[in-house]
Amino acid sequence: MSGSTLGYLTANGGKVRWRCETGHAGPVDLQAMIAKHGEDYDLTDTYPPCRECPGVMTFNDCNSMWPRELTQMKVNSAEWWAHTQKQRQKLEAAGWRVRMGKWIGPETRSLRSG
Ligand SMILES: [Zn+2]
Repeated sequence: MSGSTLGYLTANGGKVRWRCETGHAGPVDLQAMIAKHGEDYDLTDTYPPCRECPGVMTFNDCNSMWPRELTQMKVNSAEWWAHTQKQRQKLEAAGWRVRMGKWIGPETRSLRSG
């Protein structure tokens, strides 16, 4: 049995959060996802698009004290770099820029903090 299917995560407490690379985050509605994909749907290596920016979501199992990363892609692997590079180009094409190590959306560009 996989520890990252929608059915398992629901039975295990149901607390799953999504996070996107630009910093958006929120709780996952597992019931809505089950209605759409079924209980056997596995969150491992799934990268759905973020609702608020051109980035992609990754998932964390928050049923234990330490959130468990459900995304299995190894950081710094060739696959990870290709994925990161592709996402970066997509974000930059949509007007996003990295400032102080964080992604800044195009809607904040005209704001001046002084
Ligand atoms: Zn986002």
